[in-house]
Amino acid sequence: MKKIISSLLLLVASSSVMAELNIFACEPEWASLSQELGGDKVTVFSATTGLQDPHYIQARPSLIAKARRADLLVCTGAELESGWLPLLQRKAGNAAIQTGAAGHFMATDHVNLLEIPSSLDRSQGDVHAAGNPHIQTSPLAILQVAKALTLRMQALDANNADFYQQHWQGFSQRWQAAIERWQQQALPLKGSTAVVQHASWPYLFDWLNIVQVAVLERKSGVQPTVDDLNNVLKQLHVTPVKVVIHAAYQSPRATNWLVDKTSINKVTLPFTVGGNEQSNDLFSLFDNTIQHLLDANK
Ligand SMILES: [Zn+2]
Repeated sequence: MKKIISSLLLLVASSSVMAELNIFACEPEWASLSQELGGDKVTVFSATTGLQDPHYIQARPSLIAKARRADLLVCTGAELESGWLPLLQRKAGNAAIQTGAAGHFMATDHVNLLEIPSSLDRSQGDVHAAGNPHIQTSPLAILQVAKALTLRMQALDANNADFYQQHWQGFSQRWQAAIERWQQQALPLKGSTAVVQHASWPYLFDWLNIVQVAVLERKSGVQPTVDDLNNVLKQLHVTPVKVVIHAAYQSPRATNWLVDKTSINKVTLPFTVGGNEQSNDLFSLFDNTIQHLLDANK
């Protein structure tokens, strides 16, 4: 009995040494960033994988159980998770992660959003009514989020504030060096043109000066009709484009339709960590994304 108790105590002691913050990330990119910044002071769970559509997730009992124990929720915000996160927060009944609490962190609150509609319009199922939420496709946006997330971790776990500061400094140095390298590699993409299936990439395009000629989804999140696709096809007769891009988690049906009708190159981008085998952290995500775009534009 004594032995069992002492090993239990050891277990409790070692788990508290291992992690001070229990983090529930809505998407893999924020799970990776939390891990980069938190090191062994955090335990990180990602609610979704890189092959799931983050706009449409079920608030499953297993997710609710994880959210119940979380100290910090790290999600995209800007309504990306509006179909499932409010229900998850309600069912979890955890005051620490309710909207407005210190443990409620939305990445898009720390970045200037693109594609904000002049009026809020959810008609016809638009899933980007609050502006484009897909900020993780730009490493500049990730840097801004990382800085804000560090401050939040320091506020929630003040005992380890110095540790988080050191990790932030290490990460931001490596990340800024990587940004320089990616910008050099991506120089041939400057001014190149693309069609996209979903409006997933405005932040990536803004960063690398890629011109978006058309979006196959006339309304974000709504499958294009044949009329919509034919309109894009007409547009491409006027402005020829080399690539059509879709995210790995999406069915490429609309992209394939366009590829069949034209000589356009299809590009499947990882979109987030885990979107393909090579993209297993934030650094390899951008290595891989840029390599795919360079290959398709040759
Ligand atoms: Zn979207």
